[in-house]
Amino acid sequence: MIEFQHVFKSYGRGRNILADINFRVEPGEFVFVSGPSGAGKSTLLKLIGGLEPPSRGSVQVHGHRIDKMPPRARPYLRRAVGVILQDTHLLYDRSAIANVLLPLSVAGLDTRQATTRARAAMEKVGLSGKEDLNPVEMSGGEQQRLAIARAIVNRPAILIADEPTANLDKDSAHRIMEVFRDFNRVGVTTLIASHDLPLMAAYANRTLRIDAGKFTDSQKAAL
Ligand code: ADP
Ligand code: ADP
Repeated sequence: MIEFQHVFKSYGRGRNILADINFRVEPGEFVFVSGPSGAGKSTLLKLIGGLEPPSRGSVQVHGHRIDKMPPRARPYLRRAVGVILQDTHLLYDRSAIANVLLPLSVAGLDTRQATTRARAAMEKVGLSGKEDLNPVEMSGGEQQRLAIARAIVNRPAILIADEPTANLDKDSAHRIMEVFRDFNRVGVTTLIASHDLPLMAAYANRTLRIDAGKFTDSQKAAL
């Protein structure tokens, strides 16, 4: 469960990017975060992922109060929330599977268990057989799927992705969305920020929209 109560967010002494945001996302929802560039979509996702603290208000994610969490406790949240940022942050000095193994190094698994899990994660995103490629040898769509494999290898309850289909052709974009839909169908709560309204309409069942500081929730509008 994700719950925002009276959440405000500004950077430094800047204006409020988010002002008095209230919503609740139940386990298993597939939520689309929409709005123009610079509206605060990434900021909203970063608050959920514990990558940024709110300036005011309460952010609760999977039983954790992010606004009360000291920075050193945030790695624990990483296990609950899989994060796919706009820049995939893949490491190009090692193989694809080595990238997927990275988040497992803190999980206390032996090498064989970790490798089995990383292979399974790559299989789930359709990258079987590409384990030993360097990410530079992979297409844009494949690199995005590799970033998803790395985000889900710890089996998080929540998955957040920032513009995961940006710069991809239509087929690759649908392939990415199908990967998210498959995880969502097995119960993973999924939030995706995107500009692509028609693509998102085909997958998400709820929209949170931020536009010039105004926040709208399609679920509330429907009630
Ligand atoms: P979106 O994802 O909708 O494009 P962002 O959340 O990335 O929007 O950004 C919202 C606003 O916050 C923008 O004006 C952006 O310049 C500003 N912003 C984002 N991150 C930071 C930061 N770390 N420091 C200062 N300003 C930031
Ligand atoms: P996608 O539909 O996922 O975007 P592409 O059609 O772009 O995939 O790529 C098809 C195949 O070409 C992929 O299997 C990928 O591994 C390979 N490929 C793409 N770019 C490169 C590259 N720079 N070097 C080697 N192989 C590549």
